[in-house]
Amino acid sequence: MRTFESNHQTQEQSSELFFRPKTGAGLPTAAQNNSFFPPAHPSYVQRNAANSSGAAPDVQMQAAPAAAPCGPGLTVGRRRATIQPVRVARNDGTHPTERIGFSRLTELFGRCCIEFAISPPRTINRTDFQVVNDTGGAATPEENALAAAAPGGNHINVIVVQNFDTGGGVLNADSGGGAMSIPGATPSVIAVEGTSRTVIAHEVGHALGLFHTGAATFMRGTGRHGAANPRHVTLSQCNTARTSALLTPIAGNCCMDPH
Ligand SMILES: [Zn+2]
Repeated sequence: MRTFESNHQTQEQSSELFFRPKTGAGLPTAAQNNSFFPPAHPSYVQRNAANSSGAAPDVQMQAAPAAAPCGPGLTVGRRRATIQPVRVARNDGTHPTERIGFSRLTELFGRCCIEFAISPPRTINRTDFQVVNDTGGAATPEENALAAAAPGGNHINVIVVQNFDTGGGVLNADSGGGAMSIPGATPSVIAVEGTSRTVIAHEVGHALGLFHTGAATFMRGTGRHGAANPRHVTLSQCNTARTSALLTPIAGNCCMDPH
């Protein structure tokens, strides 16, 4: 069953963001169907890989210095995921939602040697999707319909809407809410315009299989979509994210240096 944490302010979850675990890989493309499939929990392996690089010997007289391209980090292969930005316009194609920035996403996951290819934005012309119903809990039918209208494929959709409608009033930039993640063979992040870039990184982290582990990391939300999450990532988070089926190995090695 889906679980989630709300980023609406609550006593116990004041710093959480919406979260639903991604489904297992290999399911039919949700975006090409009108419903999502029951999510299967990914095998969630916490590999607490020790930093095995070790300390350099104190003295190597006359010896050529050992190649140490990675400093204290681990040398691993580069991997890449694709982000599909999606804007939502009115039915006539006018007034699309704004573009969103991925600089923090690139920065944080770059420490895990995970890169992102950012595809050219696509636009969904649906006036009613510009403000989507959001209950702070499981994805609403409208949120699922929006995700289903986004492009399918082996990528992560990041869909920008004008706002969430919680039923008690439309959220503004300071009222909490603002981003959530829907699992699927093609995961979708739905973010309100103006969402902090670290919150985008957080939600993409969910799409890559991360949970709210790691105190004082970007996977601990602030509860406000305009407020930045901590800019810290752990080795464990890197190792988990690097197992995502959404990632493709690419040429070259990289120093994985989470901090
Ligand atoms: Zn979250």
